[in-house]
Amino acid sequence: MQRRIFLTFAGLILASVLLLAMAFVLLSYHAMRNNEQTAIRDKTHLIASMFNQYPTLDHRTINSGGSRFTLIAPDGLARFDNHRDADLTINRSNREEFVQALQFGTGQAIRPSETLGADTFYYAVRLNNGDVLRLSRTLHSLGAGFRVTLPALVVVFLIILAIAYGVAHRLTRAIIKPITHIDLEQIHSHDESPLPPYEELWPFIQKITHQRIQLTHQLTTLYHRAETIDTLIANMREGLIILDGKGQILAANKSAAHLFGMKKKCDLINWHIQHIHRDPTFASHVKKCLEGTFTEIDFTRKDKHYNAFFSPVAQNDNNGAILFFLDTTQHYKAQQQRREFTANVSHELKTPLTTIAATAEMITNGMAQPQDVPAFARKITEQTTRLMHIINDIIRLSEFDESKVERDFAPFDLYALAQSTIAALQPQATEKSIAITLSGASLFINANARLIEELLSNLIENGIKYNKDGGEVAVGITEENGCCIIAVTDTGIGIAKGHRRRVFERFYRVDASRSKKTGGTGLGLAIVKHIAEHHGGSVKIDSTVDVGTVVVCRLPGCVRREKD
Ligand code: ADP
Repeated sequence: MQRRIFLTFAGLILASVLLLAMAFVLLSYHAMRNNEQTAIRDKTHLIASMFNQYPTLDHRTINSGGSRFTLIAPDGLARFDNHRDADLTINRSNREEFVQALQFGTGQAIRPSETLGADTFYYAVRLNNGDVLRLSRTLHSLGAGFRVTLPALVVVFLIILAIAYGVAHRLTRAIIKPITHIDLEQIHSHDESPLPPYEELWPFIQKITHQRIQLTHQLTTLYHRAETIDTLIANMREGLIILDGKGQILAANKSAAHLFGMKKKCDLINWHIQHIHRDPTFASHVKKCLEGTFTEIDFTRKDKHYNAFFSPVAQNDNNGAILFFLDTTQHYKAQQQRREFTANVSHELKTPLTTIAATAEMITNGMAQPQDVPAFARKITEQTTRLMHIINDIIRLSEFDESKVERDFAPFDLYALAQSTIAALQPQATEKSIAITLSGASLFINANARLIEELLSNLIENGIKYNKDGGEVAVGITEENGCCIIAVTDTGIGIAKGHRRRVFERFYRVDASRSKKTGGTGLGLAIVKHIAEHHGGSVKIDSTVDVGTVVVCRLPGCVRREKD
């Protein structure tokens, strides 16, 4: 803009100067020609008056001042001509100036000169004797006039050029400066905004300011949106990878990087997806997706299970794909556990049922001797009790699975509950000559008393069941950092290290025959774990084979009772 204004100004000044110069040259030229003609006219009249006064005057003595001097008789033939090459035989009666002079006393004409290419001015005066006196002279041409003034013109032109440059430059700056100094920020932030330098610019500035505010808002919104999406994608537990049309990774999140064994998400960028996971099935799904088909597969990588979704993306001429990885490890394991659990349940139920059915059949068919019937009946009762235990434990576990176990928390004395549980199990302990001791003191806990009793019962019963005859079971009730600690220690057979981790699994038994013999269902510790977790607590087991086992339950919700 600045350049345009400058050029316009400079152009205008130059054009004006050129026009002025041309007008000056033309006017000077005309003035010069008029002066030359007037001089010839004056000279002709002077010489004519001399001839009229002295008719016998010798024309050779006449000083014509450099002009051509011709004396023409009324018939048109020249009597005298001071021009060196003049042809006196030529009849000049048809010359315009001659005709006018004969008729009106004076006459004039301008004719182009044949030799010089310039105009010749002719002026004629009729003398008293009837002859015509004519003076003629070649007039300065325009070019000649221009040549005279050219040096001065060039100097003036250069001076004007310099002035035009300076003026145009200053004017341009004077116009542009206020515009470039407009502070839109200030105009926007002040209620009383400073007026713009040119009133005409006000609507324009208002529009720009308005658009600027809109743009800022839009940019801020876009920035926040992008940030939100980035944060969401970055912190998503699910893996996300964006591929270009060739299968090259354009973007990926942290979870995807971890899934494919990379430390950072940028480690995946620009890799081809097939180099990241070399699996033919996976590769064929990527290919299908890049061809525009949505597909889905389950795949396993490093002990983890994923559901992978391949969504094609097509925008304008660009195609690509979004790969979404959902970690289904837990779901997969839960399903596997459920399958195992169902198989185990069927097996566990089938064994006592088969015994019951066979025994009952023997009695019914009369195959059992009358003296054996009481023993058979006891067997049926034993197996029925076992069935009842298994079914009760399964029901309890399914309640935990379905989160149907009531909270029903209320404060009660844990120590007193341990006392009553031990008392209930005392006959079982006496049978194996096992001594049960209880240490600690009255300690209140806010919990579900029925479930805690079940927990205590399971742990103490295990201490008895897996103990040696004459062994010991020690129950300790203590408090630690607001948690109630239940520790059940026995001097039993212990659990080998490899089994320790698995004893909380459903139906897991270190020695199945021993467990069954002692009426175990293999579900006791699984129920203990659920009860502890139901109270926000935890359970740990430590054991040494042939020395004994200690199970420690940590339950939050210890309540201090003010003494009555
Ligand atoms: P069970 O009904 O068979 O006792 P549990 O779930 O209570 O089922 O225990 C699982 C297995 O852990 C038992 O079969 C047993 O092998 C082992 N176990 C549990 N408690 C003890 C313990 N105190 N001493 C040794 N082994 C134990």
